[in-house]
Amino acid sequence: MKTLLLIMDGVGDRGKQTSLGRARTPHLDKLAKTGITGMLHPLGRGVVPGSDTSHLALFGYDPKVYYKGRGAFEAFGAGLELKDKDVAFRTNLGTVDENLVVTDRRAGRDPLGLDELYAALDDMEFGDVMIKVKHTVEHRGALLLSGPGLSASVTNTDPHEVGVKLLRSEAIAPEGEKTASILNQFTEQASAILAEHPANKMRQEKGKVSANVVLSRGAGIYFKPESFEEKYRLKGVCIAGGALYKGAARYVGMDVPDVPGATGTTSTDLGAKTAAVERAVRDHDFVFVHVKGTDAAGHDGNADLKCQMVERIDKELVANIAKLFEIVIVTGDHSTPPSAKRHTADPVPILFWHDDVRPDAAARLCESECMTGGLGHIVGLDIMNLVLDYVGKAKMFGE
Ligand code: ZN
Ligand code: ZN
Repeated sequence: MKTLLLIMDGVGDRGKQTSLGRARTPHLDKLAKTGITGMLHPLGRGVVPGSDTSHLALFGYDPKVYYKGRGAFEAFGAGLELKDKDVAFRTNLGTVDENLVVTDRRAGRDPLGLDELYAALDDMEFGDVMIKVKHTVEHRGALLLSGPGLSASVTNTDPHEVGVKLLRSEAIAPEGEKTASILNQFTEQASAILAEHPANKMRQEKGKVSANVVLSRGAGIYFKPESFEEKYRLKGVCIAGGALYKGAARYVGMDVPDVPGATGTTSTDLGAKTAAVERAVRDHDFVFVHVKGTDAAGHDGNADLKCQMVERIDKELVANIAKLFEIVIVTGDHSTPPSAKRHTADPVPILFWHDDVRPDAAARLCESECMTGGLGHIVGLDIMNLVLDYVGKAKMFGE
């Protein structure tokens, strides 16, 4: 039996007019009419979810146990090899002035030459610690520290705002001192390399701001969890563009094929994702598909774009792939209402379709209809339990 988990990132909204409510979604409507619906509180009622913790919960891994900071997921998603007790950070290439004051956290959001700049920082060594650096999307990347005695108990170098000086990393517990010191040495050496790099000269010639600093944040220490396949006896695969989601999936041992054209932005190629799902479903039981654009539009406060993303997902993805599965689950990892421009704790409409569920009155996947749906209010960790029962792999509790 094949299961599809389709996550529209941040798809929930607030208020009377929501993106799911407004969007024309004939294919999702069809599933909603014959499926069962409800409201999902990914991490529990009133908890504002991060995308990383929420995805762990959706995969059935309690974030209170498994979440060790976002850096590790980002590094995984970037395709870096992590060993037990390695420490990873999320990075931006940004811009600082001569006094190390951050003038742009995203290097003008212009990716020109950033591949070369990230590559120039790869493979450094500080004593017994090896450094790996990898460019992901736009200005973003991952930084991996590999060696003995590392810890995630360190502060960020990214001040998270412009007009503020680049921060020095500090230990927040004694075991973080080595890591903080290496992060500071790396940041300094990286600045020297970036300043002189031809790719930055080229950026300047084209009138673009220099990408002359690495801003690091979200330290995470890695340890290997029980894999998705060991835990559920299901072979899982992830079809996504964004590094974070690929990282969360790789962390639990799903296969994560590269999907050219899946960018993790609002311009992602959903045709490429459809083709990737058609390939992946042949030799996997559980296909996790992630679309980021809905969340990005929510953060930008762009309600129309968010609505259009939902319509595109319905037309270009759901229309083609739903028929390949016996179980179809469609929901989001949290709400990102355009009115709030951030993640909120509002529960997210969820649809669970299987030939043999108890259909409810909801005829659409949207806030107003799903809030009275037959699943009621569930949490992220419930989802895999529901799946296991329907695929016949649940273990009875008791006799
Ligand atoms: Zn998210
Ligand atoms: Zn978000």
